[in-house]
Amino acid sequence: MVLMYQSSCHAVRLPRPGRSSFSFVSESCSTRFRCVPALLAPTYSETGLWQAQMTPPPGSREALPTKVDVAIVGAGLCGLAAADTLAVAGRSVVVFDREPLCWGASSRNGGMVIPELKAGPASLEQHYGELAQRMYAEANDAFDFIEATIAGDDGRGGIECNYQRSGQLYLAHTRSHVGELREQAAEHAALGEAVRFVPASRLSEEIGSEAFFGGVVFERTGGLHPARFHAGLASRAMTAGAQVIDRTGVTGLSRRGVSHRVETTRGTVEAADVIVATNAYADGATPALKHKVLPVGSYIIATEVLPEELAHSISPTGRMMVDTKNFLFYWRLTPDRRLAFGGRRSLDPVDVPEARDFLYDAMLRIHPQLAGTAVEYAWGGNVAITLDRLPHVGRIDGAWYATGCNGSGVAMNTWLGHRLGEVLTGQAPPPALAELKHRNVPLSSWRHAYLPLVSRWFDVQDRR
Ligand SMILES: Cc1cc2nc3c(=O)[nH]c(=O)nc-3n(C[C@H](O)[C@H](O)[C@H](O)COP(=O)(O)OP(=O)(O)OC[C@H]3O[C@@H](n4cnc5c(N)ncnc54)[C@H](O)[C@@H]3O)c2cc1C
Repeated sequence: MVLMYQSSCHAVRLPRPGRSSFSFVSESCSTRFRCVPALLAPTYSETGLWQAQMTPPPGSREALPTKVDVAIVGAGLCGLAAADTLAVAGRSVVVFDREPLCWGASSRNGGMVIPELKAGPASLEQHYGELAQRMYAEANDAFDFIEATIAGDDGRGGIECNYQRSGQLYLAHTRSHVGELREQAAEHAALGEAVRFVPASRLSEEIGSEAFFGGVVFERTGGLHPARFHAGLASRAMTAGAQVIDRTGVTGLSRRGVSHRVETTRGTVEAADVIVATNAYADGATPALKHKVLPVGSYIIATEVLPEELAHSISPTGRMMVDTKNFLFYWRLTPDRRLAFGGRRSLDPVDVPEARDFLYDAMLRIHPQLAGTAVEYAWGGNVAITLDRLPHVGRIDGAWYATGCNGSGVAMNTWLGHRLGEVLTGQAPPPALAELKHRNVPLSSWRHAYLPLVSRWFDVQDRR
């Protein structure tokens, strides 16, 4: 498999977290991953922090339409951005989501708005030649589009979602990664981007941690409150005229002459066009798409609200942080001054308490100053991994789809949804990403058998 991950780890002495008078220690620290059990706040909850802080707009309670121009499967950022663009262009649009509105990855993520693809410009060019430049430009377009949408540059009102261009700090977790990061910084800087290498001796200006050997600052990365952005996009699409129907699963799609028959748990709709925007949650309604992405869990813990000084000591510049491991950690301060710390230890599913304890232990290794700080929220969601680690757009049985966020689809999947809206209204040709061959994940039905072995291999590399 060509799942191109990054590589490995650091060893910092781990202090035992103290017990605060109002907290208790979780009993569930797995024996599978030796770790310090998380200290839990009395208000500890296994819902997403973001979702707990946002009431999504109600989905449409109107009757199902019998016929529409476009039916969209999935009301995440991708489906809603497509719906918005189509509705603004005067098309009749219905969006179905089998779950309550703002349930999916779009409201559960780390809120990092990344103007990059997984591979850097040079590596992309080596693999894809001329197409690479256009794909790289699209990552920038996606970033510009999400910023313009949030700012309301189109005159339709912005989205209040605590957006800040915070910048991102990409951290070398071993000395052997320093050279690679230096090269990356130079490569981006040569393209005129505000990207710079930070040597270990100056890392304290960016992060309160002794765990890393150097880093790269990408000034252009942003941070937002995911559920506020997701809900804002839903309201925008509905205001433009899209009908967004939640708690209604699409159970089957079929061609009927030039149109599509969309079967749902509440009835059938005929649509001239269909967009499938299910990303990591593709199900039996689109069997062919299910084989093109690997759904992998990613988990996040959020601490209790931190004292200002402690928060500043961890992240003096408020960057979005990511390290260089295969099983990378990502973390940031939240708008209400908690530390949200995410990652995974394995490609096969784990339950939230197991992931939480593993993340808590890792968070303390990186930021020992958080000893005694309790976890208030822990949650997880699925990301869609593709074989080449790139997002994909295409058609299956006449329906358009965009998928394959590979863990960084806040900007990209939103933009791809918008672009599919443009394609269906004839405003623009398909994006360059549609020119990529989208190969199936080999033996995807057998993934539960082989993923533990792949995970083990990544883990060994990360520990080297
Ligand atoms: C824990 C976590 C952290 C992340 N962190 C970041 C980050 O910091 N930055 C970043 O850029 N990206 C991040 N991501 C990825 C990002 O969240 C996704 O790329 C993005 O939200 C995908 O949007 P989407 O609309 O394509 O899919 P989703 O938001 O997942 O929406 C898909 C929807 O399809 C619905 N659906 C599926 N099947 C059907 C059906 N048959 N009928 C009806 N509805 C259906 C699902 O219910 C779901 O609501 C993270 C993801 C996770 C899980």
